[in-house]
Amino acid sequence: MSGISLAGVTKRYPGGVLAVKGVDIDIESGEFVTLVGPSGCGKTTTLRTIAGFETPTDGNIRIDDENVTDAPPYERDTGMVFQDFALFPHMTIHENIAYGMEAAGEYTDEEIDARVEEMLELVELPGVGDRTPDQLSGGQQQRIALARALAPRPKALLLDEPLASLDKQLREQMQVELRRIQQEIGITTVFVTHNQEEALTMSDRLAVMNDGKFEQVGPPEDVYNDPDSRFVADFLGTANIFDGSVTAIEDGYATVECADVTVQATAQNGISTGDDVSVIVRPERIRFAAASESDADADATANATANASASSSTNPSADGGTQPAPETVFKGEITFKRHLGSSVEFRVETDAGRELVVVRRSGLDERGPGDRVTVSIGAADCRLVEE
Ligand code: ADP
Ligand code: MG
Repeated sequence: MSGISLAGVTKRYPGGVLAVKGVDIDIESGEFVTLVGPSGCGKTTTLRTIAGFETPTDGNIRIDDENVTDAPPYERDTGMVFQDFALFPHMTIHENIAYGMEAAGEYTDEEIDARVEEMLELVELPGVGDRTPDQLSGGQQQRIALARALAPRPKALLLDEPLASLDKQLREQMQVELRRIQQEIGITTVFVTHNQEEALTMSDRLAVMNDGKFEQVGPPEDVYNDPDSRFVADFLGTANIFDGSVTAIEDGYATVECADVTVQATAQNGISTGDDVSVIVRPERIRFAAASESDADADATANATANASASSSTNPSADGGTQPAPETVFKGEITFKRHLGSSVEFRVETDAGRELVVVRRSGLDERGPGDRVTVSIGAADCRLVEE
């Protein structure tokens, strides 16, 4: 198995479209990396430069430590699966899977037959070799497309939205299946999707693409929890975003003045006073005050919190005691609630007119639309990025 490196890969199509603008990544042997981003951001073009169907206008590509930038596709040993996985309709499943090995001309019939059987076992469809593609369901055909790509033992697997045409349930099943197969044979994989959930759940690392560039590359948890930009926060999952400017940094906390609220956030990312920033808060990081609290109690909580934040910003713990981290508190009303299975999503309209998205574990909260609530955001639950 082998890694893939892209260095400064750039693609300008004849006619002028600059589709990929100098992307860099070192993909390790056996790693599953996903390119994710909105339609037209350059995912397919990047994948096709790795496969050799497009030649970069600048930069270079290495597979298994060999510079393949100008090598034709058949010299690169990659297996590819597309969204419209197009099996050859007039060939049997066996012939479809054998196709790459037959074309290579390096294998005996016995080797090919044994490998086809092995691939059918791997994708859990033993015994379908004599059928034709139209005798299989969409999900089964996609497994065969995968078996066909893997049969010649490629150095890397390249997948362009291979699950996009499957319905939701089948798609989720195939996500698990694809990952199982990839891990079982340990093949280096580059997967392209515009589906952020797919990217977050399947990958060792993901590269979030925007307008031909990699905005951020990292493991799903890191990119989700610590987005480097407003774009990444917004594209992956749901984000509450507060735009404002930093008016003070004290004791490790930044005060961010926004139009409707002042947010206290842990200082980070080299942000300094005067910077225009976005404060990003994931919905599951927002807390509700206890359900039993009346509005008056909620007021008391808000005051207590305000005191806590005031004291922690004016008193740098001279006594060595730990001050509670500052919080930002909102009062508002639940306008919408929906069940997401293991969690519940709420929309809260704050008294200043901002809509917040809050996600809580299912079964913990009886409140619903029309109820008044006090919500709070801890300074440590805020991600600060330059606007
Ligand atoms: P994605 O896969 O992320 O949707 P693509 O890589 O297909 O994005 O396309 C990136 C950009 O390049 C788009 O603006 C698209 O219109 C353009 N593009 C793609 N293929 C070609 C081509 N063969 N000729 C000219 N422009 C192209
Ligand atoms: Mg595409």
